[in-house]
Amino acid sequence: MARTRTAEVVGAGIGGLTAATALAQRGWKVRLHERNEEIRAIGAGIYVWGNGLASLEALGLYDDAVVGAHIGPSLESRDHHGRTVERIDINGPGQPRVKTIMRDRLIGALVDGAVRAGVDIVTGSEITSVDPSGSVVDSAGSTVHADLVVAADGVNSKIRDAFDLVEERVRMRQGAIRLTVPRSEAFVAPEDAGRYLEFFSGRRRILYTPSSATTLYVALVADTDDRPATQVPVDIETWARSFPQLETLVHSLADIPARWDTFEFIKLKSWSVGNVAILGDAAHAQPPYLGQGGGCAMMNALGLADTVTLNPGSVADALRTWESRERPTIEHTQRWSYGLRLLNNIPDAARSPLLSAGGRIHRLGRSRLRAAMTTPTGYDRFADISQHRKEA
Ligand SMILES: Cc1cc2nc3c(=O)[nH]c(=O)nc-3n(C[C@H](O)[C@H](O)[C@H](O)COP(=O)(O)OP(=O)(O)OC[C@H]3O[C@@H](n4cnc5c(N)ncnc54)[C@H](O)[C@@H]3O)c2cc1C
Repeated sequence: MARTRTAEVVGAGIGGLTAATALAQRGWKVRLHERNEEIRAIGAGIYVWGNGLASLEALGLYDDAVVGAHIGPSLESRDHHGRTVERIDINGPGQPRVKTIMRDRLIGALVDGAVRAGVDIVTGSEITSVDPSGSVVDSAGSTVHADLVVAADGVNSKIRDAFDLVEERVRMRQGAIRLTVPRSEAFVAPEDAGRYLEFFSGRRRILYTPSSATTLYVALVADTDDRPATQVPVDIETWARSFPQLETLVHSLADIPARWDTFEFIKLKSWSVGNVAILGDAAHAQPPYLGQGGGCAMMNALGLADTVTLNPGSVADALRTWESRERPTIEHTQRWSYGLRLLNNIPDAARSPLLSAGGRIHRLGRSRLRAAMTTPTGYDRFADISQHRKEA
């Protein structure tokens, strides 16, 4: 009988939890290390597009993750006069699929799935060094060895940096404050209440995202050097001046716990070193203009689990195969989300006609981006592996 292969996964975010569960479901013995004492999500919503939803389906966690999720009928961009300049219909037949979920719901479903799959989750366990052969050392000095190590330790990954893998890292000129408030009929017109809305004004944007029946997720996007706009708690006056049509919403943000993140773009020389794979934001961070960082992390984790399972020889070789399959799709998505930052730089008067003329997702209708946002490549191979198991 074949020996059970072992994996040590570092980081219990969306990427690490997905990788750990997918590996365990494929027969690997998996331990997942999270440096925090608790696995927690920031208080915000998240857009989960078709690729992320299909990843959750492949993990068997879809029903749990989408409990209470919001399903909007459209995603609309509004100019500085409040006029709709672009509208993307979603969630109908033949249209892109997207649900918005509270992050704690998504992380909770992923944690439950990992536990059910038999993943050994160790919290308060910070990994301090990793060797390409698969040795992992924690902050208490204990060393363990595994066939595979997955570093999903986030945008500031120390494991990635110890291997000097960064080819390009851009700390962008833009970022966002994220927070949630109870939904209220007073925020927008009644016909807008269930829609996903993006408002532009100068170099600032507000993203209005119902994320459950009762919760609204709000993202305030601004340049990093726009001091008043980056303040936490939110500087109500400055945002209300930019978005007078959203005055009630903006005033509801006073003193709400919030968090600022500067957007990042990361490209690596390689996604693996020996038996160590780098995954998620650690490998391919992108600004959230397409809402794809988490979806890419999930689909890439599934692709990784499938590839190393279906190629039982050298793990290092399998990781190279995984990278050659997944990287073009992920980088295509990254390039588009990075390019969309330019919308902030265009003056209001020029942006509106540009958006109305285009329809940035419509234009991508049959492109590889649409494919990337619809079906994770890992999911395709999950179907293969299920078939393979049935035949075996
Ligand atoms: C403003 C904003 C909005 C976004 N909106 C969306 C969206 O709508 N849709 C979407 O799909 N994506 C979105 N994203 C992107 C998405 O949040 C990320 O891509 C995703 O959370 C990355 O997951 P991860 O697992 O790679 O990393 P992380 O979530 O950062 O997880 C890394 C984990 O590793 C742990 N860790 C770090 N170092 C160690 C160590 N040495 N030992 C043990 N544990 C360690 C950390 O504590 C953390 O728990 C958004 C991002 C931002 C900034």
